[in-house]
Amino acid sequence: MPVQQTLNTRFYRRLVEIDTLSSGCWLWPGQVLKGYGIIWEGPILAAAAEGRARKKTRAHRVSYELFNGPIPEGMEIDHVCHTNDDDCPAGDACLHRRCVNPDHLEAVSHMENVFRRDERFRRTGVRAVKP
Ligand SMILES: [Zn+2]
Ligand SMILES: [Zn+2]
Repeated sequence: MPVQQTLNTRFYRRLVEIDTLSSGCWLWPGQVLKGYGIIWEGPILAAAAEGRARKKTRAHRVSYELFNGPIPEGMEIDHVCHTNDDDCPAGDACLHRRCVNPDHLEAVSHMENVFRRDERFRRTGVRAVKP
């Protein structure tokens, strides 16, 4: 099965387990790494049989592509829910990283992403940690 199809299937399978916060955030119920939801491409043995490491993808990127379309080349995905929530402590305590609600995700250029981060810092005094 093509990798993208595997990722999509795995995303859909977990969809029923997702908790929705009052903010509308969908919390990824699967594995979490540095605060971000993670989806593995496939069984570890399959990758090992091909002599390579198993790839993982951030769940919110899979969600974006499923619902909003392909992420344009060179674009980054901004968690708008995080950018707009001045009360979020950011860093590892940030729950927004686990959010896979496609309405909360926006593809932006690196410049725009940096701009939004700085803008948020000016408002909140909280410096987001770049993972
Ligand atoms: Zn969210
Ligand atoms: Zn946050």
